[in-house]
Amino acid sequence: MPPTTTAPARSRVLTGDTPTSTGLHLGHYVGSLENRLRMQDEHDCYFLIANVHAFTTLADKPDDIRANTLGIVKDWLAVGLDPDRSTFVLQSEVPAIAELTFLFAMLIPFNKVMRNPTLKTEIESKGLGDSYPFGFPMYAVGQCADILAFRPEWVPVGEDQEAHIELCRDVALKFNQVYAGVGNRVPPEEHVKAGGVFPIPKARIGRVARLVGTDGVQKMSKSLNNAIFLYDTEKQVQKKINGIVTGRASATSPIDPANALIQYAEAFLPRERADAIKADYAAGKEVMDGHVKAEVGAAVNALLAPIRARRAELETPDGERRVLSVIRDGVRKANRLAEETLAMAKKAMRIDFVVRTIST
Ligand code: ATP
Ligand code: MG
Repeated sequence: MPPTTTAPARSRVLTGDTPTSTGLHLGHYVGSLENRLRMQDEHDCYFLIANVHAFTTLADKPDDIRANTLGIVKDWLAVGLDPDRSTFVLQSEVPAIAELTFLFAMLIPFNKVMRNPTLKTEIESKGLGDSYPFGFPMYAVGQCADILAFRPEWVPVGEDQEAHIELCRDVALKFNQVYAGVGNRVPPEEHVKAGGVFPIPKARIGRVARLVGTDGVQKMSKSLNNAIFLYDTEKQVQKKINGIVTGRASATSPIDPANALIQYAEAFLPRERADAIKADYAAGKEVMDGHVKAEVGAAVNALLAPIRARRAELETPDGERRVLSVIRDGVRKANRLAEETLAMAKKAMRIDFVVRTIST
């Protein structure tokens, strides 16, 4: 018997991170983690660690990817993502994701993938030139499978991921139309009711859509050496903030409102205080950047103190065992749902010759 469809009691959420570094940064916090924390209670959440996709840029560094994978799960736990309420998904142990990637690749024009603005920006900002592996653009297709394997309604992400979510929506629409007989006039929100396999997922952008890095130019990114990590020490945090260049000629010169210091004041100080600082700068009052940097640094450190402490507890043999067991439990739960989705997709594609089960 093919697996039956379970209608979720709570709407589902899927999002994730790529283990390209040993931890997460402030951009993740305001762009996605805050939403994940809020959504854990009302939604059925799946958080995916995209360890296969980490090989797109770090193929020759398997040890790093392994350490990064554990590090990111530690940060999830440290921030308060709760494996008892949500499911942690290790991408490499969910075969349905790899299979759906191949099937979805037939529904996306090659040129559309290559025109994806997020990929283009990454190729440029990460200096990948023209020597990136075939698997690099392939990850955009893979990400559609990461998401759709869990048939979520919501995907909490930062702004840089919007183009990917759009691609994922296109794939889901097309799949439902081509294989599940959904008419092309049916609005996205009605697809499942009209017989579609996949709900058409929506991005939920965080409180700060794109937190700039300490370089003041690129988005804060694990791979660009411009990030304040959640596990950075108090000193490191303050040093990184002190290093922000404001480019002012004197203490009464104006400041560019897009400057990283102003962005961080807006993101991490109470709104009235950030507004007062901006007003002082704009009015040409004497403002010492160093004072603002100290204030912003203290606010960031207050936010990070409990996270840092919880992460330190996980950097022990007991902590590592807990992380590994959380990963193993998550894989079991993730495969139940992803296998169900794959079976539904195969049925729609008329390739449901054999029913399989996987045991983990
Ligand atoms: P990499 O440099 O390897 O691409 P990253 O820092 O961009 O790493 P990802 O794992 O690609 O991190 O992104 C994880 C999630 O965090 C995504 O939803 C992404 O949109 C969000 N995110 C990442 N950086 C920022 C940022 N600076 N501001 C807001 N959201 C962000
Ligand atoms: Mg990224």
